[in-house]
Amino acid sequence: VTQVVLLGSAGRMGRALMQALSDAGDLTLKACVDRPGVASPPDGGAPWGHDLAEFVAPRDVVIEFSGPAAAAQAADLCAQRGAGLVSGTTGLEESQEAAFRVAARATPVVRAANFSLGVLALRRALAAVLEAVPAHWDVEIVERHHRAKQDAPSGTALELARLAARRRGYPESALRAGRSGLTGVRPQAEIGIHALRGGSWVGDHSIVLAGAGESIELRHVAQDRSAFAHGALAAARFVATAPPGFYTLEEVVSAAAR
Ligand code: NAD
Repeated sequence: VTQVVLLGSAGRMGRALMQALSDAGDLTLKACVDRPGVASPPDGGAPWGHDLAEFVAPRDVVIEFSGPAAAAQAADLCAQRGAGLVSGTTGLEESQEAAFRVAARATPVVRAANFSLGVLALRRALAAVLEAVPAHWDVEIVERHHRAKQDAPSGTALELARLAARRRGYPESALRAGRSGLTGVRPQAEIGIHALRGGSWVGDHSIVLAGAGESIELRHVAQDRSAFAHGALAAARFVATAPPGFYTLEEVVSAAAR
C-alpha cells in the first residue's frame, strides 16, 4: 500500500483529494500538511502538520495542490528523500517550474495543469479540429473559474493556447491574454485567452475556432473537483512504481491502459 502525504490539505483540492483517498483501498493517507493557522478539516485520523519534511520518507508519494513556492519546495524535498511527486499547482514562475525538471532526475514526477481525463480528450479534439479547419481560422480560448482563483489565465488555458500555437507554427508571443483599447485588426498569428472570474465555477474551458460566417466551439466543464482528484490518484499509483523522470498525465493514462 502506497503512503500518500498531502500538501495543501485544507484547500479546495486538498479536501477533494482526502475524499477520493478515503475511497481508495491501495493508497493510504499518511499525513496532511498545510500552512500554520489553517484549520484542519476532518482527515480520517492521519496526522496533521505544517512542515512537509517531517513526514516524507523514501517511496512515499507527495500529492501537492498548494501554491507556487510550496510546490517548488516540495519538488526539492521529494528529490532529496526519493519520494514520488504528483503536482498540480498552477501559476508557477519559470524558475519554479525548473525545480520539477531537476527533481525528476532523482525521482518520478507527474506534473499537469489539469488532471481531468476530459481535458486530456479536449487536447486531442483540439489537435484534430485544427487539422480539419482552414489554417486562417482564428483561435480564441475562454476560461471560467471561481472568484478565489489566484492566477489568470488558467494553467489549462495557457497549455491549450500553447498547443494551438505549436500546431499552427506560431511563436510563444502569439498568446494574448485579454484585449482592451484601440487594438486594431486581429493579427492572424494570435491566440486570444480570456479569463472570467466569479462565483464557484470549478473549471470551464472553451476553445472557439472562428472562420468567416461560421465557428466551432469545443468545451470542457469540470463540475466537481473529483474530476481532478481521480486523475491525481491515478498519477500517484503511477509514480509509486515508475523510475525517476518527468511524466505527463497522458503517459500515466497510456501506462494504465497497457
Ligand atoms: P486553495 O487555496 O483552496 O488551497 C491551497 C491550499 O494550499 C491552502 O489550504 C493553502 O493554505 C495551502 N498552502 C499554500 N501555500 C502553502 C505552504 N507554503 N505550505 C503549506 N500549505 C500551503 O486552492 P485550490 O483551489 O485547492 O488550488 C490549489 C492549486 O491547484 C492552485 O494553483 C490551482 O490553480 C491548482 N489546481 C490545479 C488543478 C489541476 O488539475 N492541475 C485543479 C484544480 C486546482
